[in-house]
Formats: sequence, C-alpha cells, structure tokens
Amino acid sequence: MDQVQQLRPHVLIFPFPAQGHVNSMLKLAELLCLAGINITFLVSNNIHNRLLRHTNVVSRFSKYPGFHLDHYPDAYDESKVHIAQEIMDLCTALQSVVKPFLKELLSKDPAHGTRKDRPPFSCIIVDGFLSLALDVAEEIGLPLICFRTISAGAFWTYFCIPRLVEAGELPFPGDEMNLPIENVKGMEGFLRRCDLPSFLRVGDLTNPDFNLLLKEALQTPRAKGLILNTFEDLEGCILSHFRTHCRNLYTIGPLHAHLRARLQLQEANSNNSNSNSLWEEDKSCIKWLDNQPPKSVLYVSFGSIAIITRETLLEFWHGIVNSGVRFLWVIRPNSVNVGLGDDVLDSTKSKSKSTPEMELEEATKERGCMVGWAPQEDVLAHPAIGGFLTHSGWNSTLESIAEGVPMICWPCFADQQPNSRFVGEIWKIGLDMKDTCDRVIVEKMVRDLMVERKDEFLHRADEMAKLARKSIEEGGSSFCNLVRLIDDIVKG
Ligand code: UDP
Repeated sequence: MDQVQQLRPHVLIFPFPAQGHVNSMLKLAELLCLAGINITFLVSNNIHNRLLRHTNVVSRFSKYPGFHLDHYPDAYDESKVHIAQEIMDLCTALQSVVKPFLKELLSKDPAHGTRKDRPPFSCIIVDGFLSLALDVAEEIGLPLICFRTISAGAFWTYFCIPRLVEAGELPFPGDEMNLPIENVKGMEGFLRRCDLPSFLRVGDLTNPDFNLLLKEALQTPRAKGLILNTFEDLEGCILSHFRTHCRNLYTIGPLHAHLRARLQLQEANSNNSNSNSLWEEDKSCIKWLDNQPPKSVLYVSFGSIAIITRETLLEFWHGIVNSGVRFLWVIRPNSVNVGLGDDVLDSTKSKSKSTPEMELEEATKERGCMVGWAPQEDVLAHPAIGGFLTHSGWNSTLESIAEGVPMICWPCFADQQPNSRFVGEIWKIGLDMKDTCDRVIVEKMVRDLMVERKDEFLHRADEMAKLARKSIEEGGSSFCNLVRLIDDIVKG
C-alpha cells in the first residue's frame, strides 16, 4: 500500500451474515472504494468461502488496493437460517463469538491499528441488526454508522413499537388482521395489522424474538449516522419522520443501480458482473429468456431465506400454469420442505406422478424454465421479463423497481409484509397477495399483472424506475447523499 493510500480513511464494513445484507453492503463497499477509501469487509468464514466459490469478488476488487476481505470464525451455520427462531439463534451466537473477535480486531494497537499494511480504522459501518458492534465502537472510541438493509417504511414500524404498545395496538387483541393500525406516523390510513412486520405478530410482549428486534432497532440513534438503501422519491414521507430520531440520514439507494451507474461513468460500457451470490448462478436462464417475446415472462423467486411447503409450491405451480403465462422460476436447493424441490427441477427422474402433476410438468416444459439460483439483477433487466412474483425482500423489491418491473407480492416474514403493502397500495406498481396462497388467486393475479392490466402496471413501474434513475444521477438525492457520506467519512 502506497503512502497516499496510508493517509486515506479506513472503514470496517460488517454485514449481517445473510445474502441480502452481504449483497447490498458489498455494493456500498465498492462505491466507497471508488472514492479511494480503504475498506475491510468482514464476513463469517462460511460466507467468505461461498463468496470465493461463487463470485468473482477477488478479481473484481483486485483493482482497489485498499480493499480487504476478512473473515471471523463461524458462529452458526447461516445456511440453516430460515425462520425467526433461527435468525434469533444466529444473533445470539454472533454476540458470543463475534463481539470478542471484533474487539480484538479493532484494538490491536492504541490507535485502533489492525495489520501493519493497512492504516488504522477510522470508522465502522455496521449492519443495524448488529448493535453488538456499537458497544465495541463506543468502548474503543471509534465513530460508527449503522446501515439498515430493509426499507425505511419497515424500519420505521420497528421504531414505533413503543407507541403501538402504549396505544394498545400491540399485541393484537383478537385475530382480525385487516383492522387499521393508527399509531405509525406517516402510515395512518393504509397500514393494517397484517401489514406490520411478521415479528410484530406476537400475542405476548415478553416474546424473546420481538424483544431482540425492538432492542436492536432502538439502538440505532446511538450511531453517528444511518445509511438506508432507499431514495427520497420512494419513501420521502417516512424519511421525514426518521430525521427527528436519527442524526445524519444517508439515503443512497438503490445501491445496485447506484454502483452500476458509477462504474459506467468510470469505465464506459462497463457491463461486467457484479454478482455477490452465495449460490452458483445458473446462467442458462438468460439464454432461455433471449428466446422469449418482450415483457412476456413472469419471474418467480422467494429470495435466499424463505422456505415453502409442498402444498404451497403446488398452489403456485397450478396457478402460474393455469394463467397461461411464460415463467422463469427459482427454486433454491432445499427450499421446499418436503424435498420436492429437487424433484421439480428434474422431473424426469420421478416415476410415479399423478395426472395433474404430469400436466404441470408438460406445461413447464412448454413455457417455463426452472433454476436453482439465477443472476437476478440480469434477469430483472432482461427485456423478456414483464413481472416478478416475489416474497418482497427489500433487495428484490428495489431491483424490480429500478428495472420498472411490476410485482405480485407474497411476503413471508420480517420486513416483507410492509414492503408488499407499499407496492400494492402506495406506489401501485403491483398486487399484494399477502397471507393467501390459493391457485385460483395466483392465476387471477398473474393474469391481471401480465395480461389484463399489464399496460397500467408497466406504466407506473416505468415512472418509478425513472425516479430511481434520477436519484442516482449527478445532482440526484442519492448521488448527493453518497457524496455527503464520503465527505463525512473523510473528515472523520
Ligand atoms: N438473488 C439472486 N438470485 C436468485 C434469488 C435471489 O441473486 O435466484 C438475490 C437478489 O438479487 C437479492 C437477494 O438475493 O439481492 C435476496 O435479497 P432480498 O432482500 O430480496 O431477500 P432475502 O433473501 O433477504 O429474503
């Protein structure tokens, strides 16, 4: 490392160990590298190995001499994390394994020095779900900025929990889920019980998952700043409420598009892969898409964590096939919990099939494509894609918005419930299928999105995509907020 590099700030970036978190925080890391900032990106040993196996992260980042990919000892097998309880177990494990590791890493010398070839750390950017780093940073006296990888809307509902409890809106008395929620400022009039994050659907406020989540959310104002992967034109009405609670709010999203735009400015015609996938991408689906008519294909994916039952899979499969629409469907290995997943991907191997299942397979061969993991950003940018049946994870939602792809939302857990409400009711760029999974409804929604009301949805999604692009262009809100973030890091 040369002398100039030695004088530049050195930021430790520490994501929560899950695909969506690692993905967006690596995009941020590269944006900061482009500004000449030294970065140490810290992941678990497990995630480190998967990144090396399935991405070009090492060669891609080799052009930034100040970038280092570092790893801590595994605390928990993240690939087994699918439900709230497992997420909470992972958090507990991180607390016991990572906290001491972090402390040692950050305080190896009195000037917070790390390795000899790197300058001392000047700042930490930590996933807002890992407040354990706040304790360490405060102890050592290092500035810390939180990054919440979920939508501002979802995060804001966490912030409003004390108010909801005080007003008697939490826990829900009774089980009528369509009743309105009145005590989340900025969301009065459209938020219902069923739109609150799944972790808030508790009958008892002593629930440990609920309490961990609340504790993590309420720590954020301790940080020097808060980064959100969103943009002002998308969530402005919520962001104004945040500003009364958190210092230095930096909305710099959509990050994947922001990074792509900056890379294109630096290297004209740069279209290289920026994949941060923890699974092997099956690129054959892009060839399949190349042979489909424009805007004709429904892309189906439920992200990196959700698992579905065999019954749910069959309801979706019947509904999609009955709609007559072409589809590209990601079925992650082990994501169907009776082991049907592999069967679905290689249907020819199975001998005893019922007639309806054989018909599904026939229809799938005719107008469908199924893969275990897709290069999702490239898929959503493909001209053949006309809609996205999604679980409403925040990265997927932003990736769809940036490409002007309308959505059918089937939220599974966490922040996905409020995200789908915004898509369906506020931005009106899709349909919210929340809490139902029935082949007749699936068929109707797919036909509505892809056929009957196609132009209406495409038009609105296209308008939102234009706003997303505007935000990351020179002078746009996310562009300016990134400049401000970099300035603040440099000034210290
Ligand atoms: N993803 C992908 N290929 C797939 C499915 C998902 O690359 O086949 C990526 C997707 O682009 C997104 C991330 O995995 O960046 C999923 O994050 P999200 O926040 O949408 O959902 P989560 O997985 O956290 O539930």
